[in-house]
Amino acid sequence: MVNNQMKEAEKNLLHVYNRFPIALDHGEGVYLYDMNGKKYLDFAAGIAVCGLGYSNQELKDALKAQIDKLCHTSNLYFHESCGEAAKKLNQISGMDRVFFTNSGTEAVEGALKSARKYAYTKQSGRYEIIAMENSFHGRSVGAVSVTGTEQYRTPFEPLLPGVKFAEYNNLDSVKALVSDKTCAVILEPLQGEGGIYPATQKFMEGIRAICDKNDILMICDEIQCGMGRTGYPFAWQEYGVKPDIMTMAKAIGNGIPVGAFAMTEEVAEFSMKAGDHGSTYGGNPLACTAVKTVIDIFEREHIVDHVKEVGAYLETRLNELAEKYEFITERRGKGLIQGIELEKPAGDVVKRAQEEGLLIITAKGNTIRFVPPLIITEEQIDEMIEKLERAVTA
Ligand SMILES: *Cc1c(COP(=O)(O)O)cnc(C)c1O
Repeated sequence: MVNNQMKEAEKNLLHVYNRFPIALDHGEGVYLYDMNGKKYLDFAAGIAVCGLGYSNQELKDALKAQIDKLCHTSNLYFHESCGEAAKKLNQISGMDRVFFTNSGTEAVEGALKSARKYAYTKQSGRYEIIAMENSFHGRSVGAVSVTGTEQYRTPFEPLLPGVKFAEYNNLDSVKALVSDKTCAVILEPLQGEGGIYPATQKFMEGIRAICDKNDILMICDEIQCGMGRTGYPFAWQEYGVKPDIMTMAKAIGNGIPVGAFAMTEEVAEFSMKAGDHGSTYGGNPLACTAVKTVIDIFEREHIVDHVKEVGAYLETRLNELAEKYEFITERRGKGLIQGIELEKPAGDVVKRAQEEGLLIITAKGNTIRFVPPLIITEEQIDEMIEKLERAVTA
């Protein structure tokens, strides 16, 4: 429980979060401990961030060593870690040019600017962006402008002009919005925040075809569904549909704040040039050390293969649960990003799960979201199902 002193100090923060009454203190593997020493099995991973779980020795050592040397240089100077992180990230993402940001939102901002710059250079007169209903891309004005959820948008209107919303997984609704002014289509290959909805193969291929035909850029937001979570390094790879620009964040730094947007060489040629974009912190030595070390560990420990295996198991176990209980209306997801839709309040189940020592979160549409650290084992999935079953039937 949170003590009074903490509650008092909390009053200094802007109240934009409904925090749970839990004060977390430390973590080990896939378990978190609160200040009273209560242990929680973590199926939230700090909102799909801590893919390698907590207290990874190699990552801690690398970060500590970097802190002892240098945390920040600004981007006016070279730093070894920056190039190394970029090279490794491009190798696994299939992109050619990357820019490091401090968050996912900023990665989305950069992606939108990159698309606009591409159109500007080509003097195509294009500026419109097609985004998806039910999407989530972050909280800045630009990111909110392409986020298809009314409650996040309305208080901040008017937003960016030139954004149109299509229905996710409905290719005709995208086609209907394409005009000679369209410069980009932005989508999540799997909508996370929106309730765990994967794109269909037909939708991804169809969007690629529309983009190819009209010199429109396809932007994939891989911030939540990327970095191994679906059982592929990035979610688009399963579809074989490569975007022109992609955004990353969350798990690429395993908890050190870092994001990135990246593009193919063909896009880079006409897009951002010196002076067009920048960030004081973006990709500083500490952030880049996190990225390169995380990728090293992913590769050596075959994390993505592991996700394929245990993801299938999680799917099976959740399907069993959905069969057993009528109030679970659907299971959706891929790999280790799964959701179950309930006919009873998901928020209550989350609270009861906490009492059972299990951390889960919700997503839109009364959905419980499962985004555990990617190192989760089948035994730990069994442990989760036991706790969940108690929480969901209580
Ligand atoms: C979390 C998220 C963002 C925003 O990332 P922040 O780091 O919170 O700014 C953008 N897009 C998607 C798909 C996300 O899940």
